[in-house]
Amino acid sequence: MKAELIKINPKNPEQEIIDRAGKILREGGLVAFPTETVYGLGGDGLNAESSARIYQAKGRPSDNPLIIHIAQMEDLETAARRIPKGAVRLAERFWPGPLTMIFPKTDIVPYETTGGLDSVAVRMPGHPAALALIRAGGGFVAAPSANRSGRPSPTLAAHVAEDLGETVDMILDGGRAGIGLESTIVDFTEDVPVILRPGYINREMLVSCIGQVNMDPGLQEQNRPPKAPGMRYRHYSPRAPLAIVQGEAGRAAAFINELARMEEQKGGRAGILACRETEHLYQAGLVKSIGSRSLDETIAKHLYQVLREFDQEQVSCIYSESFDTPRMGQAVMNRLKKAAGGRVIQVPDDE
Ligand code: AMP
Ligand code: MG
Repeated sequence: MKAELIKINPKNPEQEIIDRAGKILREGGLVAFPTETVYGLGGDGLNAESSARIYQAKGRPSDNPLIIHIAQMEDLETAARRIPKGAVRLAERFWPGPLTMIFPKTDIVPYETTGGLDSVAVRMPGHPAALALIRAGGGFVAAPSANRSGRPSPTLAAHVAEDLGETVDMILDGGRAGIGLESTIVDFTEDVPVILRPGYINREMLVSCIGQVNMDPGLQEQNRPPKAPGMRYRHYSPRAPLAIVQGEAGRAAAFINELARMEEQKGGRAGILACRETEHLYQAGLVKSIGSRSLDETIAKHLYQVLREFDQEQVSCIYSESFDTPRMGQAVMNRLKKAAGGRVIQVPDDE
């Protein structure tokens, strides 16, 4: 492995390590680092060449823009223009935290960072190691998730090493990413703010802070492209084909059992994505519980890790229950449907 993998104290990061990592960023190199959402692949967001290296390392399509991470509120105006009052209110309420906002960009932000767009996405992450690194790296760190494009986002440093160990200069290991799903993205370039990607900060939380907030219709409607370029691609995917089975829990489990048995008869092995409340219902396949429906943060936290574990177990197909939970269900199902390439099987309620 080319990358230097260094353990860092996630609550109180060692300054000596941060200084070294910051120097790499200022010199145009790439450092993967923990955030409270998922691991990020950082480069200097104001340096066009660094951004080009990020795209190359990830194998990311060059029209899929990067998020610029800042560490202090004053820096927002350096990267973004026309910042409405509502956005300031959201920043006061949720920054540092898992919220990204989109504004018209300033001239200092290169098009290589914004995928050719005139707008820029900005977030102030809440993770102490991320904030320290951003400060040491010059204040504007472009950081998409630190996975190869299309793969599940990394929630552990080991996932980063697996995907990008040969291409980045340094990986900071701060343990497990707390939330496990990418930030909520809100677009402030329209009259009414629009959610382009659901996340831990859900619509109700945004509405209670600033009133009207719309959902990008492209997130729901099949025939309409989502506005965030990154939401158009197949994404977050394990290697084996994944399908979501929707319906009442008992019926969905019976259906998945049947599909898993059929897979065994064909000489394959099905991976099953279940939860604590349902895992006992399965008699076939390789069953993994990703968390509890009554504590849906645990489902968000383990989703990507379990998808990667199925890769390692070399299952031939994966069936997942549906996790339409009230708090994080929208974000979880958004990622799961992308990972499934939209394959959803509806089990009827009645015979
Ligand atoms: P990632 O950093 O891997 O979590 O991906 C960043 C996400 O933010 C992708 O879905 C991008 O398409 C989206 N994004 C970043 N900048 C913009 C922008 N200026 N306009 C719309 N979407 C954006
Ligand atoms: Mg990503």
